[in-house]
Amino acid sequence: MPNIAYVNGRWGHLASASVSVEDRGFQFGDGVYELIRTYHGTVFHLQEHIKRLYESLKQIEISIKETPLRLEQIVQSGVKKSGHSETKIYIQVTRGAAPRLHSFPKGVRPTLVMTFRKLDPLSPKIFNKGVAIISVEDIRWGLCNVKSLNLLPNLLAREHALRSGAFEAIFVRDRFVWEGAGSNLFAVFGKKVVTPPVGHYLLSGITREVVLALGKKMGLKMSEAKISLAALYRADEVFLTGTTVEVLPVIRLNEKQIGDGRSGTMTARLYEAFQNEVS
Ligand code: PMP
Repeated sequence: MPNIAYVNGRWGHLASASVSVEDRGFQFGDGVYELIRTYHGTVFHLQEHIKRLYESLKQIEISIKETPLRLEQIVQSGVKKSGHSETKIYIQVTRGAAPRLHSFPKGVRPTLVMTFRKLDPLSPKIFNKGVAIISVEDIRWGLCNVKSLNLLPNLLAREHALRSGAFEAIFVRDRFVWEGAGSNLFAVFGKKVVTPPVGHYLLSGITREVVLALGKKMGLKMSEAKISLAALYRADEVFLTGTTVEVLPVIRLNEKQIGDGRSGTMTARLYEAFQNEVS
C-alpha cells in the first residue's frame, strides 16, 4: 500500500482521506498531534509519544474513547499496512465536527486521524556539516508544552529562518532561548551539556529525553537550565534534537560562528550514541 490514513476507524489512501469542513481542527486549530517515526521498521518510543498525546489532550480538555493501548495497536497496524521501509506517522486529534461556536460542543465525537507516509530522512551531509539557526521573538501562547495544532508562529519562524539561509529558528522569550520551531535546543559550555527546562515554554521532546538519558549514561554532565541568548553566543557547541533532526549540530547563530564553526566533539559523541540506540 502507498501512503495511507486512518480516519475515525476507516482506513484508506492518504490522498483521498478527508474530514468535515466543520471540523474544529480546521475551523479553530482545536486539537493536538504527535509526530512519530520508525527505525528499521520499529516505532521509536511509541508509548512515550502516546503518553504525551494524552497529556496534550488533557490540557485542552478533549477526551477520546480509545485507550492508549488501542492507539498503539492502530499505529502498529498502520505501519504494517503501509509497508514502507521507514514510516513517518502523524496522529491528530481534534474536538470534532460541529457548527462553528467558540464554546465546546456537547456530545460530539472527537476526530482521530493517523497518517502513514514514507519517511525521507535528512541527508547525512547535513549532520557532518551542521546548520545555521536564527533567533526570533517567541510570540506563541503560554502552553508550549501542549503539542497543539496551532502552529502559525512556528511556521512564520521557520519560514523566516529559511529565507535568511538558516535551517531553524530558535524562540527567545524574556531574553532566554527555549526551543526551535520544530526541535529542542542543547548547548555545551566546557564539559556541561545544558538544555532549557521543561515547563510552559517548550515541548518536552521525546528525543530530548532520550539524549538527556544517553548523556547521563555516558557519564556526561547533563543539566536542565535556562540559557540566555547572550550566553548561547558563547557556547562551545550547540545542537538541536527532534524526531526529524535527531541530533543535529549548529554551527552559526544569527550569522555568528558557534565555537570553532564546526560540529563539536560532545555533539558528535551524543550523535553517535543516539545512532547506536536506533540502529
Ligand atoms: N519542540 C517543538 C516545537 C517541536 O515541534 C518538536 C518536534 N515535534 C520538538 C520540540 C521535538 O520533539 P520530539 O523530539 O518529540 O520530536
